[in-house]
Order: sequence, then C-alpha cells, then structure tokens
Amino acid sequence: MTQATEVLVPTSPDEAAAAFGDGSGVTVVGGGTIVMPEITYGRLKVDKALLLGKAGLAGVTRDGSRITIGAATPVADLVDLPAPLGPCAANVADGEIRRQATLGGNICAGPGPDAPRGDLQGPLLALDATARSTGPGGERSEPLESFLDDRVGRLLLDVSFDEPAAGSFATIDYPHTHEYTVLAVSAARTSGGEVRLAATGLADHARMLSGDADAAASEVRLGDDALASAWYREQTLPVLVRRVLADLGEGT
Ligand SMILES: Cc1cc2nc3c(=O)[nH]c(=O)nc-3n(C[C@H](O)[C@H](O)[C@H](O)COP(=O)(O)OP(=O)(O)OC[C@H]3O[C@@H](n4cnc5c(N)ncnc54)[C@H](O)[C@@H]3O)c2cc1C
Repeated sequence: MTQATEVLVPTSPDEAAAAFGDGSGVTVVGGGTIVMPEITYGRLKVDKALLLGKAGLAGVTRDGSRITIGAATPVADLVDLPAPLGPCAANVADGEIRRQATLGGNICAGPGPDAPRGDLQGPLLALDATARSTGPGGERSEPLESFLDDRVGRLLLDVSFDEPAAGSFATIDYPHTHEYTVLAVSAARTSGGEVRLAATGLADHARMLSGDADAAASEVRLGDDALASAWYREQTLPVLVRRVLADLGEGT
C-alpha cells in the first residue's frame, strides 16, 4: 500500500524551522515548479512535504542600504531590484513561472538534468550575499558561496546583501531554449569599490570569476547539455565577461 504524504503548512518562520527540524525525511516545496512535476511523474517520493507559501518567508525588506529577501519570495517580485539581480530575475523563465517560482527554490534546486538552473545564484554571489538557513546544528548565516557548497539538508530562510554601487548582467539565451538561460555573467561593484563577477549556466552551481576574460573558461566547469555544448560556452563566456566589465566602465 502506498504511504500517504504528510503535508506541513507552517504559518510563521519559527513554525517552518520547527517543522523542518534536522531536515530528515522532509521535502521543502517553495513554488513547486520543479518539485511538483517530479512528484507527478513519480520521480520523487515524498513522506513529508513542507509548504512554505504561508510561512511568512516571502518579501523584500530594506534596512538602510541592506536588502533582505525571504526565501519564499516569488521571482517576479525581484525584477525591479538593482542590477545584476533585477535583470537576472526578469530573465528567468516566463511570467507564469516567475510568479510561482521562489528565490529559495532557485538557489536550492541544483543543476537540472537537461538545462542549467539556479540563475539567481550568479547575481547574489556577485553581490556578496549572506544566506541564512536552518537545519542540523540550528540556524546559521554564511556567505552564499559556502551555503551553495553545503546546502543539502538545510532550509534557506533568506538572503541579504548591500545595495551595490553599480551592477550589470549579460546573458546568452535563445527562444528555442524554452526560457532557460544558456550562460550568464553577473557583475557588481560593491559600495566599497570591489568588483565581483559570477557565472551561471555551468555544469554545477554558480561560481565566482576573477574578472580576467581570457581565463574565465578555465575557472569554471562547463557542460554539454540540451541547450549548448561546453565548447560553445567556452567561446562565449569571455564575451559576456568583457560585456559586464565594459558596462561597469572597467577596462579588460
Ligand atoms: C518552463 C520552465 C522554465 C524555467 N526557466 C528557468 C530559468 O530560466 N532559470 C532558472 O534558474 N530556472 C528555471 N526554471 C526552473 C525553476 O522554475 C526555477 O529555478 C525556480 O526558481 C524554482 O523555484 P521553486 O520555488 O518553484 O522551486 P521548488 O520546485 O519549490 O523547489 C526546488 C528545489 O529547491 C528546494 N527548496 C525550495 N525552497 C527551499 C528553501 N527555502 N530551502 C531549501 N530548499 C528549498 C526544494 O525542496 C526542491 O528540491 C524553469 C522551469 C520551467 C518549468
């Protein structure tokens, strides 16, 4: 007999953290644009589903120049934020998916089987964002870069970053990619003057780049998938790096 799924619907961040516990046996559902098809097609069996829609984890707040975005915030609510995050969010999928999909699902999903995902990781890395999560060992805040390396089994609560002095987003995508992004580079000049670059559309999660366009392809792992070959990405990554640097008024 098939075991029924237990559905948990927390109504506050504390309830969500308590329901998640150490994460064992819990499947988090943000907007469900990835999880629900997986369940429908029988590729994912769920014992306990934690639905974040009513957990009070959605919204964009500002405290001075610090911007905090709840994990359950729809991608559509991010499109007016400063570059590189706003333009990147506007480039995720189509309007229907953006209204349903969440920041947390985008950051935590990991690479897809046929196409890259996690577009929002790139601008948030460039923005030097902090990720706040809970799970084994309790709550912790850390640079997004280390969260991405060790995110499995954690519930992302929010991300925060300082509004950049300037930002840029450059991408390659085509109509035939069904709205997925082939390759993208995000850049931000922090309020302290540091220029930070990150790439998405890679064989794994987003990665920081040094800013040397000629070295960019050797700094990341590029994959072959249904959208493009690794060779094609290798040829185009330096172009995107030069484009964002030029946009920020930085020489290459
Ligand atoms: C037609 C189509 C086009 C798409 N185009 C793009 C695109 O251009 N770029 C792109 O990046 N993606 C794209 N996607 C993939 C997906 O829609 C997005 O990545 C989306 O942001 C995922 O968010 P979600 O809330 O729907 O994730 P969900 O399906 O809810 O969750 C995805 C994964 O993240 C986990 N998760 C969700 N929230 C949290 C949390 N707070 N803490 C920990 N784990 C969590 C879930 O358990 C699951 O493993 C596309 C999907 C479709 C169907």
